[in-house]
Amino acid sequence: MRVVVLRLGHRPERDMRITTHVGLVARAFGAEEMLLAARDQGVVDSLEDVVKRWGGSFAVRHDVRWREEVREFRESGGVVVHLTMYGSRLSEVMDQIRAHDRIMVAVGAEKVPADLYGMADWNVGVGNQPHSEVAALAVFLDRLMEGKELDREFQGQLKIVPTPRGKQVVERSPAGDGMPDQGD
Ligand code: SAM
Repeated sequence: MRVVVLRLGHRPERDMRITTHVGLVARAFGAEEMLLAARDQGVVDSLEDVVKRWGGSFAVRHDVRWREEVREFRESGGVVVHLTMYGSRLSEVMDQIRAHDRIMVAVGAEKVPADLYGMADWNVGVGNQPHSEVAALAVFLDRLMEGKELDREFQGQLKIVPTPRGKQVVERSPAGDGMPDQGD
């Protein structure tokens, strides 16, 4: 399954942190790419830095023309899900959505352009209370992937060894000889 996250409404002067979190959740919860419908090289740089250190092939593109992206994604066989508190109940539409293998998930900031509601294949509420694009995206992706995304391995320079107490991080040798070094 290929999942792309589309982030709308980003205001560079105030949304850098939350948009970065949208990207971090997208990557960690199994999406392959985030498209940012605004220009913000800082967000791109900080997500690319995470990919470099923690692995995976997550990509970020900024300054995209979102209507064209939505149109092209649908024309090439993908489906578009817009997360909004006004949408259909997640539990009622998830099986239909999961039947597709290319899914674009759109999240907004404040108000999204009204035409997105008509362009999306589904407008979906993660509950019908206002909360956050970060929370909505995390819950949606977790339901979509049925929890399996949390056990995925990322091949990065850094790897956490899950431990009940304390921190254990393995740092792979930069020489790429496959020999892990113990970090703290
Ligand atoms: N009026 C907005 C709406 O349509 O959901 C709430 C704005 S909220 C600050 C920013 C983004 O969070 C929304 O564009 C939406 O993508 C997401 N969001 C917030 N609550 C949500 C919910 N209950 N279900 C799905 N998405 C939600």
